Amino acid sequence: MALNPAEQSVPDITCREVAEWTSAYLDAHADDATHVRMVLHLAACAGCETYVKQIASVRDMLGLLPRACASPAQRDRLRQAFFTRQAPPPSKT
Ligand SMILES: [Zn+2]
Repeated sequence: MALNPAEQSVPDITCREVAEWTSAYLDAHADDATHVRMVLHLAACAGCETYVKQIASVRDMLGLLPRACASPAQRDRLRQAFFTRQAPPPSKT
């Protein structure tokens, strides 16, 4: 039996959780419940929406790197370096 989507309870998530799950969300690796919570949060939080769009833009640019870098290992090291240095998202006030 399918649930009426209007009756489903989707718990809110924090801006910090959005930051933690951004990579999985953009890779479509987040589970369905997390994905829905992310979408709802991004629809209501302009700061996180901007943050996720910026991360997506940078990831798109990194996707162009195969022409500039010789090996997938180099790209992986660059991605790792970027994601370990990313700034926290703006706080929701
Ligand atoms: Zn937020």
